Amino acid sequence: MIRARVIGAGVAGLCAAWALARAGVEVELVETAAAVGAGCSRYAGGMIAPWCELENAEPLVACLGGEALDFWSRELAVATIAGSLVVAPARETAELTDFARRTKNFCRLDADGIAALEPDLAGRFPRALYFPAEAHLDPRQALSALDARLASLPNVARRFGVNADALPPAPDWTIDCRGFSARGALPGLRGVKGEMLLLRSDDIRLSRPVRLLHPRRPAYIVPRGDGLFMIGATMIENEERARVTARSIVELVNSAFTLHPAFGEAEIVETGSDVRPAFVDNLPRLTLRGRTLFINGLYRHGFLLAPALAARAARIVCDGVDFPELTNAHSGERAFA
Ligand SMILES: Cc1cc2nc3c(=O)[nH]c(=O)nc-3n(C[C@H](O)[C@H](O)[C@H](O)COP(=O)(O)OP(=O)(O)OC[C@H]3O[C@@H](n4cnc5c(N)ncnc54)[C@H](O)[C@@H]3O)c2cc1C
Repeated sequence: MIRARVIGAGVAGLCAAWALARAGVEVELVETAAAVGAGCSRYAGGMIAPWCELENAEPLVACLGGEALDFWSRELAVATIAGSLVVAPARETAELTDFARRTKNFCRLDADGIAALEPDLAGRFPRALYFPAEAHLDPRQALSALDARLASLPNVARRFGVNADALPPAPDWTIDCRGFSARGALPGLRGVKGEMLLLRSDDIRLSRPVRLLHPRRPAYIVPRGDGLFMIGATMIENEERARVTARSIVELVNSAFTLHPAFGEAEIVETGSDVRPAFVDNLPRLTLRGRTLFINGLYRHGFLLAPALAARAARIVCDGVDFPELTNAHSGERAFA
């Protein structure tokens, strides 16, 4: 039986451990923190939105991201497929036109269509784009559910509170999923800071993520149930992990307020920040060095891409298959049909 040590219990490591274990590999999952989701994955919005992401991402992201819909909604059954709604204030309709030009798999809604989908947004926006096949999840719930499933598998040992750097080399394979902590080993890996806000309001009901297009403060709002809403996220080119600035909070609150004034009265439940691990082209990469495979560069697409990357990592370990669109270092070589 092949043995693999997976380092890191963020979304990349948990998905990798799952895919390897399901392929019959004996897995040791090692995590420095006392539980899952201590890293960047904790702060994600949890939008599984492959077609919306085409606004700024390469077709590769949408293609791999399509696999995440099935994984999170059917295999793990933690995601809700209720679509995504994209709106813009009346004076910013050019933003909506531009978004439509770059993306696909949506339908256009007028004010009545918006009201039918999200009654609390009635009369607030003249037009919207609706991506019906997209999904959302609560990242912390999803990570815990995946961890519980791993705990039930006989060929998986989970070790929390253990720093992998202090361990002797792994017997067969090492799957390095340390996220931004792997930057010393992966030249070109950088951090893109993201801040988020968790609000509670009993005055607003939303059934799906809503993206607000705005030239200065684009944002998204993801309903988490029980009156909780995640507002995200800033995108700042620095590697400061934990500091949340007053300016960012003002901008996120303003965006929420633009979506619906009732957010002005919402309770601030949590603020959070971490850095998204990203390569220069913002595409993920599988880096193979001997029998160490790094899964990294998930950028703003951790939950969207981890299932597909994990499935391919398992094929590399078990069958020696190559995936040039993910393993070639130079983005110019990573064309994807
Ligand atoms: C505000 C914000 C919003 C986001 N929204 C979304 C979204 O809506 N959808 C989406 O798909 N993505 C989103 N992302 C991106 C997503 O969160 C990241 O792409 C993803 O979390 C990266 O996962 P990872 O497993 O590579 O890293 P991490 O989650 O950081 O996991 C790495 C793990 O490795 C552990 N570790 C490090 N070193 C060691 C060691 N030596 N030994 C043992 N363990 C170690 C760490 O403790 C950590 O638990 C968002 C990110 C942010 C910050």
